[in-house]
Amino acid sequence: MANEANNFAEIISHCKEYGYIFQSSELYDGLAAVYDYGQMGAQLKKNLRDAWWKSMTQLHENIVGIDAAIFMHPTVWKASGHVDNFSDPMIDNKDSNKRYRVDHLIEGFAEEQKAAGKEQLADEVLTQMDILIAASDYAGLKKLIEDNKIKCAISKTCNWTDVRDFNLMFSTKIGSVSEEADTIYLRPETAQGIFVNFLNVQKSGRMKIPFGIAQTGKAFRNEIVARQFIFRMREFEQMEMQFFIRPGTQMQWYNYWKGERKKWHEGIGIPAEKLRFHDHVKLAHYADAALDIEFEFPFGWKELEGIHSRTDYDLTQHATFSKKKIQYFDNDLNEEGKPYGNYPPYVVETSVGLDRLFLTILSLAYTNEKWTKEGGTPDGRVVLKIPAKLAPVKLAILPLLKKDGLPEIATALMNNCKQSFHCFYEEKDAIGKRYRRMDAVGTPFCVTIDHQTKEDNTVTIRYRDDMRQERIALSEVKGLVEKLIE
Ligand code: ATP
Repeated sequence: MANEANNFAEIISHCKEYGYIFQSSELYDGLAAVYDYGQMGAQLKKNLRDAWWKSMTQLHENIVGIDAAIFMHPTVWKASGHVDNFSDPMIDNKDSNKRYRVDHLIEGFAEEQKAAGKEQLADEVLTQMDILIAASDYAGLKKLIEDNKIKCAISKTCNWTDVRDFNLMFSTKIGSVSEEADTIYLRPETAQGIFVNFLNVQKSGRMKIPFGIAQTGKAFRNEIVARQFIFRMREFEQMEMQFFIRPGTQMQWYNYWKGERKKWHEGIGIPAEKLRFHDHVKLAHYADAALDIEFEFPFGWKELEGIHSRTDYDLTQHATFSKKKIQYFDNDLNEEGKPYGNYPPYVVETSVGLDRLFLTILSLAYTNEKWTKEGGTPDGRVVLKIPAKLAPVKLAILPLLKKDGLPEIATALMNNCKQSFHCFYEEKDAIGKRYRRMDAVGTPFCVTIDHQTKEDNTVTIRYRDDMRQERIALSEVKGLVEKLIE
C-alpha cells in the first residue's frame, strides 16, 4: 500500500468537502485570511482545546483557567507596548502596490535559492536578515533586498518603497469610554487579560507562587501577508498560560516549560522528529528569552507555539499605567529565613495557536492511499488518521440494511453509546461506500449490524487505520471504544 506525499492543496479542498473548514463569507466571495470551522472542524477544534485545557488546569494543581473579555480598556494596550511596538517591518512594491512583510519576502527568496541548490547564498542572506532585524536597521534591510534583486511576485520588478512599520492591531469605537479614549482594540493576544487579572485571581484563589493562569480565546491581528490557509489568519484562537514565578528563577522555569510543552505535543500524537526548537534572535520588547516550537508543516518548518520569558515587564507596566500596586507578598521567603518579599512576579508564558495545532494534526492525518486489488484493478482511499482521542466522531453505527429489525438494534446501540462519546448513525448506501466516507472524515471505528447480529448478538467492528475487521459481542462495543479512545 503506497502512501502518497501529503499535498497541501489537497488537504485544503478535503477540509471543505468534508465539513472541516470553509472560507468565511464564501457566499460573498470570501473574506481574506478569515475562516469558519464546519461541523467536523468545530468538534476537532473543541477536542484540541479541551485536551490543552485539561492538561493545564486539571493536571496541574497550581494552574487555574479564566475567560477574560476580548474588549479591554484602551490603556491596557498602551501599557503592554502594543500601541507603540506591535508592528512588523513592511515594504511595498511601487509597481504592483503589493505589500510584503520584509522577513517573509527575504525568507521566500532564500527558499528559492535553496531549491536551486544555492544553499550558501540562502544561509548568508538569512543570517544577514537576522542581524539587520535585530538592529532594527530598516535601510540595511532595503539594501539587502535590492542587492539581491529580490522581486515582487506580481510585478516582477525590484521597485521598492522604504521599509516601514505597520501596527497589526484592529481598532474600533466604543460608546461607554470617555471621549478622549473611545478607540478600543480587538485584543492581539489573550495574555493581557491574564495580567490585568493577576491580583484578582491570586487573591480570590489564594494562589501561591509558582502558579499559572491559563486562558483560551480569540485574538485578532491585521496580518498583511495572510496566506497558507489557517496558518496565518486575521482572527484566530490562542491557548496561553502565564506562569508567575520568583524573580531570578525564570531560566529554570523557561527550560521546564520548554520540555513540558514539547512532551505535550508528542503526547497528542505529533512525532518527535516533526518538532524542533528555534531560539529567537530578536527578542520582543517584553522578553529576556524566547523560543518557538516549530512543526514541519507541508510548506516547511514554522512556528506552532511560542515560549517566552516575559520578566516582570507586563505587571510592572500595568502597575505604572494604572497607578496601582501589583505585587506578590511572598510568605515562603520568610520561612526560608530570608526577609519577607513584596515583588511583581516574573512570568514564563506558553502560547500556542489553536488553529495552527489543528493544521498540524490535519496535515499529519491526511493520507492518500493507493493499492492494487486482486486482478490488477487500482483502488485507493483518502483517510484522515486523526488520533482516536481527538477525532470529531469516534464511532459510526451502520445497519447493513434499512429493514429486518437492523435499524432498531443500531438505534439502541446509538442511544447506549452517545452518552459517553460522539457517534454517527447512517443507514443509506452500500456499506463499502459508508466506510470510505467515515475514513474521509476520520472516524476511527465503524460498527456494522447485520443479520448475524440478530442470531448471536455480535457485530463487525472495523478499524479505520488498517481497515481490519473483527466480530465482537454487541454488548462489548461501548467498553471497547471507550478503552480505545483513552
Ligand atoms: P508569527 O511569527 O508566525 O507571526 P508570532 O511570533 O507573532 O507568530 P506569537 O505572538 O508568539 O506569534 O503568538 C503565539 C502563537 O499564536 C503562535 O505560536 C501561533 O501559533 C499563534 N498565532 C500568532 N499569529 C497567528 C495568526 N495570524 N494566525 C494563526 N495563529 C497565529
